[in-house]
Amino acid sequence: MVGYKNFEIAIYFSTRCLESITTIEEFEKEFSFLEKHLKISKVYLETHRDDMDMSEDLLRSVKQFFENKGIKVAGGITPTLFRSYRNKPLIDETGIRGCGGTVIGKKAALQPKPEKGILTTWSTMCFTDEAVRQKMKEVSEFTASIFDEFILDDFFFTDCTCESCISAKGDRSWEQFRLDLMTEVAENLVIKPAKKINPDCKVIIKYPNWYEAFQETGYNTETQPLMFDGIYTGTETRDTDHSMQHLPRYGSYSLMRWMENIKPGENGGGWIDPGQGIHNLAYYLEQAHLTLFAKGRELMLFCYTWTVDSVFIPPLGFELEKLDNILGEAGEPVGLPVYEPHHAYGEEHLYDYLGTAGLAFEPTPAFPQTDKLILLTANSARDANVLNKMKEHMFRGGDICITSGFLGAMQGKGIEEFTSARLTNGRVYARDYSIGGFGSVFNGEFYGRDEVLLPIVKYMNNSADCLIALRKYDNNFPVLLRNRYASGTLYILTTPDDYADIYKYPCEVITTIRQYLMSSLGVYLEAEGKYGLFLYDNDTVIIESFMYRNSIVRLHAAGAVKLKDMRTGMETEPIQQKGDESVFEIPIQPVFYKMFRLIR
Ligand SMILES: [Zn+2]
Repeated sequence: MVGYKNFEIAIYFSTRCLESITTIEEFEKEFSFLEKHLKISKVYLETHRDDMDMSEDLLRSVKQFFENKGIKVAGGITPTLFRSYRNKPLIDETGIRGCGGTVIGKKAALQPKPEKGILTTWSTMCFTDEAVRQKMKEVSEFTASIFDEFILDDFFFTDCTCESCISAKGDRSWEQFRLDLMTEVAENLVIKPAKKINPDCKVIIKYPNWYEAFQETGYNTETQPLMFDGIYTGTETRDTDHSMQHLPRYGSYSLMRWMENIKPGENGGGWIDPGQGIHNLAYYLEQAHLTLFAKGRELMLFCYTWTVDSVFIPPLGFELEKLDNILGEAGEPVGLPVYEPHHAYGEEHLYDYLGTAGLAFEPTPAFPQTDKLILLTANSARDANVLNKMKEHMFRGGDICITSGFLGAMQGKGIEEFTSARLTNGRVYARDYSIGGFGSVFNGEFYGRDEVLLPIVKYMNNSADCLIALRKYDNNFPVLLRNRYASGTLYILTTPDDYADIYKYPCEVITTIRQYLMSSLGVYLEAEGKYGLFLYDNDTVIIESFMYRNSIVRLHAAGAVKLKDMRTGMETEPIQQKGDESVFEIPIQPVFYKMFRLIR
């Protein structure tokens, strides 16, 4: 079978998808819709979810169907149960009804039974409950007995606060208890049982899109990626405006990169779904683009019944063909290193908002080893040794940008060594700006369309330069400050209380922020609003518009004499030359990203 050149496409079959199969003949007809539009190279067949366990007969017959087509097959587990399952007898003489109505044996009955005060709906598992632990182990063993590889879907976490878990937690925080617990569960209830049944079985853990809350629910990115054979990344950002998760769209790219840097070479792919995509198909297509811009090896489509015979698939197939034609031209992704340690919290998704506003990032779980500017957010403060690392970097001549959140988190802990800036409890609400020039004089005034609520950062006059200020009557407040330390430059970026207010900055303000922070990358965008900029180590650049309308952006590139559009082959001359810097004007539409090569 001829697949795509630069990535693979996989379809996930949940238990409910598998249950929808009546006969293999009918299924073959239905599945052909996906084959018409996509080059599918792998499927994942789920063995357990909620109250449903698939029968071995059904799994083996569907597996055989795909293997006959030359499509790779792996298993999948969603570790959820009905709450009423807990502490129930393990043997129920009635047996359990598997997919298709076949009685598959005398195993635990998972029929929900109403209990007073407890919702009889699915939930994550209570891993201090012996019956539940036994069930997880059995599911791992069963799955490994059929497949040489399986993946854990989201929900390999626990939010249980039952008496048993409270008792097991003891004096630990919930975070520490669950980080420890889910490491133990991964080893004793998933990996070891699976490998005992099938030593060749490759076990993959998928991490969901909500990385800011991993530690609270026990997703341990520090221990588990070392234990599992591979990892996988949830890149389903969906509709930011109308989702409880409110994930910035750039997250479909940045989380892939962070995960890749956690287990280099072993981040198997990115996982998207069409959730909340029906009123704007662009969101669905963008999730795929961004996952693959991050060099995802595989794109998993969740799930079969959500995608088969749906409006999402024909445009996705069209776009994947177009992307596959040019993606090989992009080298390795590069960007502004941002330090995102394991289990971090504080300014969650801040760099995703900045990324949606046209900055290019490369998040890493370890302090970045680079001579380039590094971004530190309040999340970076999770590392108790971060100030020493910052000092070493700046003594080597490296630059640092800290956010107001990082400044606040480090006050009283030694940040005073680096700057006179202090985060106060005050706020300013305004929409006018000044941008600094030389010395103590601003060289221009600029106006936003809407007010922004900004924390007030104070600093000592002449100990720092205010590069951008928010103006209010006879006063102004720093948005971007700069002072020197050792051989490096320290920037302090004040971030609005609502990070999405970053999108309200006028073109001059957000462009100036990009210009300072991205100077070591040699490329930045001049535009207001929401764009993604993706950079590669071979002078390749992708620009994706997150706007609702057509627009024109300007790309500033050091040392480039022409810009070649990789899709059309057309070359563009700069509209302006400022010293070494060329400025190119680029018309861009929503969804339809453009890929360029900088010609030097
Ligand atoms: Zn519990």
